[in-house]
Amino acid sequence: MQGRGLPIPRGGTRRNPLRAGGRGPSSDSHMGMRFSILASGSSGNCAVLRTEKARILIDAGFTQRKLRQLLHDAGEALEHIDAVFLTHEHGDHCAGIDGLKRFPHIKVFANAATARAVQAKLDHKVGWQIFETGARFTFRDLEIESFHVPHDAQEPVGFTFSHGQEADLLSPRRRLAWLTDLGHAPQHIHEHIRDVDVVVVESNHCPRLLEADTKRPWPTKQRISGRHGHLSNQAMCDLLESVASPRWRHVFLTHLSRDCNSHEAIETALAGLRTRLACQFNIVASGGGTSVCEL
Ligand SMILES: [Zn+2]
Ligand SMILES: [Zn+2]
Repeated sequence: MQGRGLPIPRGGTRRNPLRAGGRGPSSDSHMGMRFSILASGSSGNCAVLRTEKARILIDAGFTQRKLRQLLHDAGEALEHIDAVFLTHEHGDHCAGIDGLKRFPHIKVFANAATARAVQAKLDHKVGWQIFETGARFTFRDLEIESFHVPHDAQEPVGFTFSHGQEADLLSPRRRLAWLTDLGHAPQHIHEHIRDVDVVVVESNHCPRLLEADTKRPWPTKQRISGRHGHLSNQAMCDLLESVASPRWRHVFLTHLSRDCNSHEAIETALAGLRTRLACQFNIVASGGGTSVCEL
């Protein structure tokens, strides 16, 4: 992991990500993967992933109105979204599912436990696409794999999304790992994020700022920092350090606590990693999104 001498930009939070490349639909063939985070944090999480044949959301943690606005700002629309993939049933990941009843063409993928938990709070029947955690499956030109993560939900998962073929020059293999809402990172998670081009990983809180926080009662702090809560900045760094894959091109640090984390705290934790890894680190501000990442 050389990295020395390579310019590593600081994280950006530019809007209008899918317009950023200036490409129209005519250039969509052989487009590979395009990815952007619409917003991230405890007030809601959602990302868009596009390939030639699929346009999906990863989580939908906003009201339909807010979701529409975020998509509009990104040059997208719910009318063109094919599917949503849910990690777990917490509101900051699935609050938008109720509003999708007006868009029955959007398939909602989740494991059975998550689907049950989300469905129980809705008054309309969602057309669920149920997957088994750990099973690989395809959706159009995407390959999807899910894996268990330790978090206080029914059956929370992380995902890898893959597109293209290793030997295909026009559509080379690209892979993205999505990993938020986990209290710690068991060994199997290391394997899931190793062989990917993009890692999206939670960097939720700074333990010092969490401890000093006056808004949260002690049990909430215990929950956040517990084995089934959220990854601290240091735990995120320890995970990346122990995997340290030379394949990584972009690492997005997400799901930041608004009150109990800061850009500076993450930069301090990241200092050692930056010298060892050549990938670009993008710190996604709480409530913020990212520009488009083309793969
Ligand atoms: Zn959660
Ligand atoms: Zn969350």
